[in-house]
Amino acid sequence: MTTDQWNPVDDYLGELLVGPDEVLAETLEASEAAGLPSIAVAPNQGKLLNLLARVRGARTILEIGTLGGYSTIWLARALPEDGRMISLEYDARHAEVARANLARAGLDHVAEVRTGAALDLLPRIEKEPGAGPFDLVFIDADKVNNAAYVEWALRLSRPGSVIVVDNVVRGGAVVDAGSADPAVVGTRRMFDLVAREPRLDATAFQTVGAKGWDGLLVALVTA
Ligand code: SAM
Repeated sequence: MTTDQWNPVDDYLGELLVGPDEVLAETLEASEAAGLPSIAVAPNQGKLLNLLARVRGARTILEIGTLGGYSTIWLARALPEDGRMISLEYDARHAEVARANLARAGLDHVAEVRTGAALDLLPRIEKEPGAGPFDLVFIDADKVNNAAYVEWALRLSRPGSVIVVDNVVRGGAVVDAGSADPAVVGTRRMFDLVAREPRLDATAFQTVGAKGWDGLLVALVTA
């Protein structure tokens, strides 16, 4: 099985269930024109994030890893008018493109992009009155820090919050306990943490499609 087979299925499902979306298409075009890598979530994954936020009734969302704001837009669209989303992005150029994309999408009043290393920004968010707790946290940045990001997500959430981590299968490499790939090591450390954390009830699943062979972890904060 290859992307040659997976892509038409993604196209079929996307056409049926996601549909054309001018704002999101422009977001991807502007990101590409600015030279950003094509590593945003796929449309059907963006829709999943949007649905999870709506099922949760999320009023506050935290994202770690903005890129050009594609997943940010999917998530921010799930918020009520008085909702709030903070997205953290290390690369100032990515953040600038994302801010322009959010403004074009008419979502800059609910979604804010903060520039810097997430592990520097998260302690500041914790001290900021009214910033959290977050009803949904989406983790999609440097995979080596995934365990630390889940720890922060727990600190900044509440019972009933949802934590989603992207790219947790890594083309199957996640099962290689001897891997020297920092992204695999970081993802396995994150799985170990989630598995032993009594306040989290989680599952993970493999995905194939336009983004290759990967997967998502979805966790519910239970206490
Ligand atoms: N969530 C985005 C989407 O689906 O549209 C894609 C995010 S992309 C996979 C990962 C992003 O995380 C990149 O823009 C990268 O610059 C950013 N990043 C990497 N290390 C980071 C860090 N330490 N703190 C914050 N952002 C980081």
